[in-house]
Amino acid sequence: MPRLVDYKTGNKPPETDWTQLYLQALVLSCRQLAPVSRASFLYLGPSTMETTTVSQDVLDGAMWELLNTAHKILQERKYRATPGTWCGYCDFTPICTARGGEDPASSTPEGQLKLWDYTLEDAD
Ligand code: SF4
Repeated sequence: MPRLVDYKTGNKPPETDWTQLYLQALVLSCRQLAPVSRASFLYLGPSTMETTTVSQDVLDGAMWELLNTAHKILQERKYRATPGTWCGYCDFTPICTARGGEDPASSTPEGQLKLWDYTLEDAD
């Protein structure tokens, strides 16, 4: 049975969030003949490994969470900005109200990002 290992360059967090590994296992399981049966984070800093069992229930749960999250994202019309160290790499700084930019929703319709009007129907 295939095993998934995700290498991390940082230290092991106090609590392991398996969400990322479950989603990776879901994608790999859909692309392989045999589903992923175990998944691990290998932390290179402390050289430790955390491993979990990946059952069909886990894969079903990951699929459900993925679909729910995608549905919520597509339903949202506005996204609250969360400034942080990542702002230095952001292409949206000029229109980010949290960084002093102009709210695109208050400008002319032509000036609004098409992303705001993206709906499920557009994805078909
Ligand atoms: S500049 Fe605004 S949109 Fe970009 S990462 Fe920072 S808070 Fe988010």
